[in-house]
Amino acid sequence: MTPHSTTEVLICGAGAAGLTLGIELARRGVDFRLVEMLDAPFPGSRGKGVQPRSQEIFEDLGILERVVANGGSYPPLFEYRADGSTGLMQMPPAGEPTAAEPYHMRLMSPQFLTEAAMRERLAESGRRVEFGRELKEFDQDAEGVTARLAGANGEEIVRARYLVGSDGGRSFVRRTLDLGFPGESLGVAFFCADVMLEGLDRSVWHQFNILGPSEFLAVAPLMGTDMFQLQGPVPVEGETDVSLEGLSKLVAERSRRDDIALRSVSWASVYATNARIVDHYQVGRVFLAGDAAHIHPPTGGQGLNTSVQDAYNLGWKLAAVLGGAPEALLATYEEERRPIAAGMLTLATNLLRGGVSNRGRTTQQLDLGYRSSSLCLERPQRSAGIAAGDRAPDAPILGAAGQSIRLFNLFHGAHWTLLGYETDRRSPIAPRVGLRTHFVGPCADFIDNGGHVRDAYGLSPGDWMVVRPDGYVGAIVSAAEVSALDPYLAGVGLTANPS
Ligand SMILES: Cc1cc2nc3c(=O)[nH]c(=O)nc-3n(C[C@H](O)[C@H](O)[C@H](O)COP(=O)(O)OP(=O)(O)OC[C@H]3O[C@@H](n4cnc5c(N)ncnc54)[C@H](O)[C@@H]3O)c2cc1C
Repeated sequence: MTPHSTTEVLICGAGAAGLTLGIELARRGVDFRLVEMLDAPFPGSRGKGVQPRSQEIFEDLGILERVVANGGSYPPLFEYRADGSTGLMQMPPAGEPTAAEPYHMRLMSPQFLTEAAMRERLAESGRRVEFGRELKEFDQDAEGVTARLAGANGEEIVRARYLVGSDGGRSFVRRTLDLGFPGESLGVAFFCADVMLEGLDRSVWHQFNILGPSEFLAVAPLMGTDMFQLQGPVPVEGETDVSLEGLSKLVAERSRRDDIALRSVSWASVYATNARIVDHYQVGRVFLAGDAAHIHPPTGGQGLNTSVQDAYNLGWKLAAVLGGAPEALLATYEEERRPIAAGMLTLATNLLRGGVSNRGRTTQQLDLGYRSSSLCLERPQRSAGIAAGDRAPDAPILGAAGQSIRLFNLFHGAHWTLLGYETDRRSPIAPRVGLRTHFVGPCADFIDNGGHVRDAYGLSPGDWMVVRPDGYVGAIVSAAEVSALDPYLAGVGLTANPS
């Protein structure tokens, strides 16, 4: 007989999106299964650029230090031109860290190392990926989802309250839901390969722009490894040989050099570029996250980052609803994340068409937010300073005992934060599980000694601000409007503790 089991959330696919969701659910005590059809972790470097906003999220997830230590920063770009000249290429400035934005690193971490750090974090919560388990079939009803899994040990039926398809660009979950995936094929294909080679130094990212834009070759030292990542456009039609021999020939042709010797290829892939976004991120009790919901060219290094941030948005909402919050909260996942992916598709496509892999401000994802979300509350409406829906900036502050601390330290974790700005030290609302209250002011728990909170937020004395678990501002209300906070918090599942 086929074994049956139950869980609260079934996550299909253990790439960056599925792993992030697993970490988010694990730290909220949600029961889940994370299944992956591959027998072992995916070996390729693929999404190697970790953007500043993802670095902040990794800090919250407790993996930033290990990701940075496993990887490194992007080296400068060194160009080889058709006329035989060479030179360092100007990159858009990364910007210095500021009080409000602590991370401006050009962080490179091969995707397999980033995912390894995520699996370590999962293991620290006593959870793991189930490799070699494939989702074969599912069906949903009003109470849950019934899924058939298959693996070397046979088949299994799992009954879950929710299913999340974080199963990549060819998503089985998306196809089973029969959702539209409109967009365009961009008429450009790329190859990507992780190789051991001799003949090039590791201090720069080599760009051979000798044969023109349709035949460039990028050779990046892969930080945290002894390998290089090769990348470049290839014809959409026909086969590209990505064996050791094929890549050696391609490198020799595009570099016009016979002193670069490829020794081995650990992973290689050829892919046609598309820009597509799924019609809906949610169908009843089934959700899509990451590449399953949006695919796009690699220009601008957005894909892994957007996938991580999808899961970071969905995780706390699923946990809240499983804990009793209104189901309507789940609809805000698509409402908030689909416009972000639509904008990212346009950005990556424009960068591809412009022939640049820009790493400037727009690709850093620090300015993304949810201002038009139904989860935003402003009373009165604000005309300056931070708005509801914006990313909540960091700020160095002092604890009342004189210790240095950052606003981010108050936000980190699974809870919501209520911040009284130059208010008296009495909360205007009854205490509730999942909400922490802090006061910032001259004689408060935390002191804005450098004026960084003032500068970053533009709050007025007496204002109350609610920060969501994912680090976005949920609500800002003046002293006269504090009565709006109670229904707002109840709407996200934070009801007053029984007295
Ligand atoms: C060459 C290249 C360079 C890139 N560079 C960057 C970059 O610099 N920065 C960036 O942010 N992004 C980059 N990306 C994109 C990035 O790799 C993807 O956006 C990212 O992997 C998406 O993560 P995901 O978790 O959504 O999907 P995936 O990583 O594709 O994971 C999906 C997982 O689901 C599993 N799966 C599928 N079907 C099933 C099933 N039925 N049952 C169980 N498991 C299943 C798959 O085996 C897979 O492991 C690049 C991509 C490529 C190809």
